[in-house]
Amino acid sequence: MAIESDVLVIGGGLAGLTSALSAARSGADVRLVSYKQSTLRNASGLVDILGYTPNGEGPLTDPYDAIPDLPSEHPYKTVGLETVRESMELFDEVTPQYRGSHTDTNALLPTHGGTIKPTARYPAGASAGVASDSRDVLLVGLESMTDFNAEHAAAHLDAAGVPFDVRGETIRFPGELRADAKVTRYAKMLDTNSEVTVRGRKKPVREAIAELVNTEIENESRVGFPAVLGDDHTAEIRQELGEKIGADVFEVPMGPPSLPGLRLEDRLFEALDEAGGMFETGNPVEDFEAEDGHIEHVLVEKNGAMVPYSADEFVLATGGLVGKGINSDREGVFEPIFDCHIDHSEDRYDWFDTEAFGDHPFASFGVTTDDRLRPLDGSGDLEFENLRAAGSVLGGYDFAAEKSGSGVSIATGYEAGNHAATEAQ
Ligand SMILES: Cc1cc2nc3c(=O)[nH]c(=O)nc-3n(C[C@H](O)[C@H](O)[C@H](O)COP(=O)(O)OP(=O)(O)OC[C@H]3O[C@@H](n4cnc5c(N)ncnc54)[C@H](O)[C@@H]3O)c2cc1C
Repeated sequence: MAIESDVLVIGGGLAGLTSALSAARSGADVRLVSYKQSTLRNASGLVDILGYTPNGEGPLTDPYDAIPDLPSEHPYKTVGLETVRESMELFDEVTPQYRGSHTDTNALLPTHGGTIKPTARYPAGASAGVASDSRDVLLVGLESMTDFNAEHAAAHLDAAGVPFDVRGETIRFPGELRADAKVTRYAKMLDTNSEVTVRGRKKPVREAIAELVNTEIENESRVGFPAVLGDDHTAEIRQELGEKIGADVFEVPMGPPSLPGLRLEDRLFEALDEAGGMFETGNPVEDFEAEDGHIEHVLVEKNGAMVPYSADEFVLATGGLVGKGINSDREGVFEPIFDCHIDHSEDRYDWFDTEAFGDHPFASFGVTTDDRLRPLDGSGDLEFENLRAAGSVLGGYDFAAEKSGSGVSIATGYEAGNHAATEAQ
């Protein structure tokens, strides 16, 4: 017996979750199946709509303004400007812990490398760090977290010409954490405000950190920490540190593994649950059965057995080259589940540019679709009448160069979910 739903979404990243959420909120009976953790674990947790044009112009002030001029194959052109706006309204509604919805203008946020990044939405915890604020900043690094060098990041920001003075200092995180402790260990200690021993005296970790920062701070009224300030009680931790230090405290978005990205993923799973969607993670979709261009069911591998999941409509949101939704071997580039067509040159040397920062075709590899996000084959015909694609499995854009990754996943996820729900009912 197949497990049944109106809409089956494959993939639990930003695109799959938005897709399942929009389908569930349209009244469809939705199930999401996903395999491993999504790209959100690696991403900063910032939500970019569009930071640069495909020609590299930018940073863009207003991403919506630039969308009408994007090339026709860009996913934003497929779904249209209004859908991008609607999808962001859904995002804003389900993520009250994000900021940026009050304006169409991109915010400029400092990154852990000391660059300034244009972004459309950012966690509340990062908001005191915006580069348009002229108050001076102290960046605080943690000795054991080598991927955030506060002094180095401050020097880079200074060289970038930010409109405030910025300094970096490094402190030793109080307590007995191993040198290679995971970011979640720091977060847990701060969440529980565990006791640590400092010079023979026990005290709560938040107090111990504030004391260390107070020996370093000068006239700065903003203090930025790497994004490890708790998982469950981030706002409370920032507030307490801020009160004890006498400054606004913010988190600097970090590289993998990214707590802000994981917090966002958790929140979206919660929102899907609240909307009545069902989900399961940990098992891959391996295969499918179709008749006359109509997918009957997909096969999910569970403990060595292949379990059929049937639905009226399917959404493919399995990610791009990073998420393994697109793969390649010596024969070519392929989409592993349905073998949807991926346009690419037969000559592998055409897949990349010889310049490291050149225009690499592989960065835009992905599925091509019709205007309702249904994948097309090499002749421009539908692969399947009841399959849609969303997120970084789509081709036609280079998210890393444009800074459009999350925005495309949200907009196309939203649109694919809506279309799938409408067709299924
Ligand atoms: C290092 C890094 C930093 C980034 N930073 C930013 C940033 O600052 N701002 C921004 O806007 N964007 C950023 N992005 C881009 C953004 O994170 C992605 O574009 C977006 O999250 C992609 O979402 P997705 O749902 O399309 O794919 P993914 O997040 O890759 O999700 C795909 C999901 O599908 C699952 N899956 C794959 N195959 C199967 C299968 N056979 N069966 C079941 N499930 C399957 C995977 O396990 C995964 O859960 C960054 C990306 C990276 C890699």
